[in-house]
Amino acid sequence: MNPAVVDEKEIDRIYLILKKEAESGGYFLNPDVEFTKNLVRGLLKNEQRYGYRACPCRLASGEKDDDLDIICPCNYRDPDLNDFGACYCALYVSGEISAGKTTPAPVPERRPPRTERGKKHVIPSGPGNALSSLSLPVWRCTVCGYLCAREQPPEICPICKVRKERFERFI
Ligand code: SF4
Repeated sequence: MNPAVVDEKEIDRIYLILKKEAESGGYFLNPDVEFTKNLVRGLLKNEQRYGYRACPCRLASGEKDDDLDIICPCNYRDPDLNDFGACYCALYVSGEISAGKTTPAPVPERRPPRTERGKKHVIPSGPGNALSSLSLPVWRCTVCGYLCAREQPPEICPICKVRKERFERFI
């Protein structure tokens, strides 16, 4: 198969899956279906190219560890939805935009420079910190912020559906 070509039926299939997943988690896809399917095409092309769905609006390095924060949905989606009503690509939008009450505005890039990336939000443990007595580690989804206390993070985030690799140890 030509790696540059993405089957239209596959785009339609993934579009419907993403839409269903988004809505079940309280998110919305851009209501401009043609625009949205073009972004899905970009995601699938990146999946063919790199093996993962890197953000279609950003330049991926091709190193999964480096690109983890921009695998869709990226770590910046939720803050961009809060601040601008849309993610950087406008694949995900607010309820207002989804309902056609307003349109997405340009979203500035919030991804930090490479040297700043990967800094974890870990609460230090120790005798002075009551949280250090917790019997289980606490894991945080870096995409939606979901927290859970268990031996290992879940295989799939129950809220935003990203995989285990997108969790970080929080406490
Ligand atoms: S959620 Fe993030 S990775 Fe996905 S399309 Fe939007 S900006 Fe790109």
